[in-house]
Amino acid sequence: MPIEERVFIAGAGPVGLVAAANLTRRGIPVTVFEAGPALAEESRASTFHPPTLDMLDEFDAAAPLITQGLIAPQFQYRTRDGVIATFDFAAIADATRHPFRVQAEQFKLTRILLDRLIGNPGFRIEFGTRVANVEQDAVAVHVTLDRGGSTERRSARWLIGADGARSDVRRALGIDFAGFTWPERFLVVSTPFDFRSAIADVVSVSYLADPVRWHFLLEIPGLWRVMFPLTETINDEEALSRAFADTLMAGVVPGVAKYDIAHTTLYKVHQRVAKNFRAGRVFLAGDAAHVNNPLGGMGMNGGIHDAMNLTARLAEVWTGAAPEAELNRYERQRRSITLEYIEKQSIENKRNLECANPDFAATLKRTAADPQRTRDYLFRVAMIASLRRAAELG
Ligand SMILES: Cc1cc2nc3c(=O)[nH]c(=O)nc-3n(C[C@H](O)[C@H](O)[C@H](O)COP(=O)(O)OP(=O)(O)OC[C@H]3O[C@@H](n4cnc5c(N)ncnc54)[C@H](O)[C@@H]3O)c2cc1C
Repeated sequence: MPIEERVFIAGAGPVGLVAAANLTRRGIPVTVFEAGPALAEESRASTFHPPTLDMLDEFDAAAPLITQGLIAPQFQYRTRDGVIATFDFAAIADATRHPFRVQAEQFKLTRILLDRLIGNPGFRIEFGTRVANVEQDAVAVHVTLDRGGSTERRSARWLIGADGARSDVRRALGIDFAGFTWPERFLVVSTPFDFRSAIADVVSVSYLADPVRWHFLLEIPGLWRVMFPLTETINDEEALSRAFADTLMAGVVPGVAKYDIAHTTLYKVHQRVAKNFRAGRVFLAGDAAHVNNPLGGMGMNGGIHDAMNLTARLAEVWTGAAPEAELNRYERQRRSITLEYIEKQSIENKRNLECANPDFAATLKRTAADPQRTRDYLFRVAMIASLRRAAELG
């Protein structure tokens, strides 16, 4: 079987396509295998952090995303009594070319990336093609492709498994995905209701801490997404009913009982990290390597940071500018960061909203009142601190 002189990528989600974009712009040919018949259309991640926008800018994907999205320079924490603190990314404008979050659905990014990649002669994509199995030897990685009836075996030098949380690549390599699943599920209710008309000082990203039922409001173009935790006692059918959404939404703004509801999404939330991000000629990135709760919007962003870190090194090894050992730094840096920052911060964010940390409001106010603490905090939540730490790890 011939060895294709390309990098194979499993999965055309945001992480797989960012990896493809960063490799092809360096002249390295890639083939992306996507199990679905087309790019996913689900409404999932919708927050792009400042350093992620800086990265996307390297292949001209930030500007169109900003055009199709919504700029959110501020975020805030509230209780039912009002604002605890509002933070503005302007305080770290010297550290990023994009001192704001962009609120845009992740399917907008994947479409922007695919549109750009299609014109690149080094890029190929095969839809309806699942990477079902992976084997490797000293010189190549061999994938078994499942096209829903027919199978084919193909070989290349390297494989990036960006095939999401249920990664077949991870399973084929036998890599443990240790961690836990939260007992509660999260329900996202999307509504065209303009919360600015009802909550005077609300900003586009607004977290409400409450010991009984917290929620957060996230504005995307044309809609607000409201996310609630649900206990195990509520079954899926009830959770997805209109009546149940009405009951939850009635608790968001005093005096507003009825909302138009565009759609509701219910999902389980996990905190898991793969034991290894690299096995020989195969790498895991994005949800295939780690999953976390969505509080703080770090899942997709962390995955994009993985893809950029990995492909920059892979390009150097491909061209002979660096030895193969360079690739070990990917796992050393990104796995440590995932454990130290992404998992830790997302769990802390959840505890804060549940009011499980009694000092939270006082600490947040102290942070907001002190410019240096504000900067340190913003570096952390914007994921700039994690990138700096990764670089220090060598
Ligand atoms: C409701 C919700 C809200 C979220 N909000 C945020 C947020 O605000 N910010 C944030 O950063 N993160 C958020 N996340 C997480 C975010 O959506 C994921 O982290 C992100 O999608 C991961 O991207 P990925 O490319 O790694 O995987 P995916 O987006 O899951 O893409 C994987 C792709 O691989 C394909 N595939 C699967 N198996 C195979 C195979 N064997 N072979 C070939 N192709 C395969 C799939 O069809 C899919 O297209 C949210 C998640 C949910 C569910």
